[in-house]
Amino acid sequence: MHEWALAEAVASFVHEKAKKPERIKIRLGELQNIDEEIFLFALKELMGQVDVEIENEECTLRCNVCKKEIKLKDINEEEREMIHFLPEAVHAFVSCPFCGSKDFSIEKGRGVVVESVEE
Ligand SMILES: [Zn+2]
Repeated sequence: MHEWALAEAVASFVHEKAKKPERIKIRLGELQNIDEEIFLFALKELMGQVDVEIENEECTLRCNVCKKEIKLKDINEEEREMIHFLPEAVHAFVSCPFCGSKDFSIEKGRGVVVESVEE
């Protein structure tokens, strides 16, 4: 499962940084479509008692043609669903809701980042 693989990657990263981590802060990009409950459960299983703070980063796209900012809530439901299935292929099925262009950049909402680890 996606969430478990991520939790394992986070856990091994954290253990490299700290012997006894007490508190970690993780930023989850909306495009990753992570089930937070499963992810937190997996982290607890892998790391024991650690205080985990999750920060969700909303996805923002920027149209390269009309330069408008596009949020996931601006695009239609069908396209949004596709993004959640296949975030890496976002360019294939999303077009700018303002001008119809498929030329846009992903500005925010990608990836999973461990922001801080406290001992
Ligand atoms: Zn546009």
